[in-house]
Amino acid sequence: MTETAADTGQALHALCRQLYPIARSITGDGVRATLAQLSELIPLQIHEVPSGEAVFDWVVPPEWNVRAAWLADAEGRRIVDLAQHTLHVVNYSEPVRARLTLEQLQPHLHSIPEHPDWIPYRTSYYQRTWGFCLSHRQRQALRPGTYEAVIDSTLAPGHLTYGECCIEGASDRELIVSVHVCHPSLANDNLSGISVATLLARELAQTRPNHTIRFLFVPSTIGAITWLARNRERLDRIDGGLVLSGVGDAGGFTYKRSRRGGAIDRIVAQVLAARGEPHTIEPFGPYGYDERQFCSPGIDLPVGCLMRTPYGCYPQYHTSADDLDFIRPESLAATLAVCRDVLARADLVATWRNLQPFGEPQLGRRGLYDSIGGENDKKTAQMALLWMLSYSDGEHSTLDISELSGLPLDVLHRAAGRLRDADLLAPTDRPAARDPAQR
Ligand code: ZN
Repeated sequence: MTETAADTGQALHALCRQLYPIARSITGDGVRATLAQLSELIPLQIHEVPSGEAVFDWVVPPEWNVRAAWLADAEGRRIVDLAQHTLHVVNYSEPVRARLTLEQLQPHLHSIPEHPDWIPYRTSYYQRTWGFCLSHRQRQALRPGTYEAVIDSTLAPGHLTYGECCIEGASDRELIVSVHVCHPSLANDNLSGISVATLLARELAQTRPNHTIRFLFVPSTIGAITWLARNRERLDRIDGGLVLSGVGDAGGFTYKRSRRGGAIDRIVAQVLAARGEPHTIEPFGPYGYDERQFCSPGIDLPVGCLMRTPYGCYPQYHTSADDLDFIRPESLAATLAVCRDVLARADLVATWRNLQPFGEPQLGRRGLYDSIGGENDKKTAQMALLWMLSYSDGEHSTLDISELSGLPLDVLHRAAGRLRDADLLAPTDRPAARDPAQR
């Protein structure tokens, strides 16, 4: 790693550490506190959507907040306490204050026998219940007797909170990066994506890309659905995007392609190969993170999911062992570098139309043969003009032309700019045709 990459890795890990203790859920003050901390680093627009609002087939749920939760034994000793770990209470537990026998308590306890020292992560968003999560070792040590269970929570009309960071580009075509912000103290599943997205947005905020780049910090599923429902009329501006999750562990990259196929899928594969990163490319499937929402058939955006070891394929997944030691600064830094390259390339993809398609236009008359630079650059620049004119039929994007010609995207992008200035090319409003290989 270069010194800069090491610094980036440390900064990413430090941000995860800063956010780790917050008790997040799909709604409530944990998400607000998280977004408030991110606002110190990036310009973040925070949206509050009232409980009860219909979003496609869903309804924004009541807001959940928990102030305290503990389990005390007959002597009043708190043997499980939310103050010790945010995973100790089942997320979205309804309030309870009860005395129970161990037998009555057991159905409300969750542990993992195969990993007796880890606390599981459990949620019950849409079904009213309550419960505690604890290590199996701790659970087995419980003696018969009376226990006091206290969960001081509220489930009441409130809001769902999400954040949006928009980097204005030269055009209104958009690229999106989406991360979920609803998991409590889980490092890889949640915080790794949040930290990479945040520091990447902070970098891009200093630039003026061609595309507008929109970063979404949303609670998983309901948050992504809410954002889509509230932005439905603007979705056709989106040329591509990435869902980032589980990007801090030591494993190689896994990229799950979008359902419809698109430039983003080809670019991620190019970048991972060019950087020599060990990786696997998987086809789309309807189970996973929020790419499920972005790729649902009525939405159908070219949005893929970048991970390292996929969800459910590491034993630490959804347990207290997905902690700050499980994620590595160098993995986080390499993920940020991959995402930076992917967005930089995706930003250069555009589809143009040749305005003089009847025979070759006369380039010399327009001064287009007077290239700047050395003989080699001149030849490359001239070839780029010819390739752009030849394939800019409204169907082939600069990415297609790059693959056909072997010319780099940035050279084609510059050629397109010169041809546009000479009134020979015009941008098409619609994105490039679907990748036929993906149909
Ligand atoms: Zn998860």
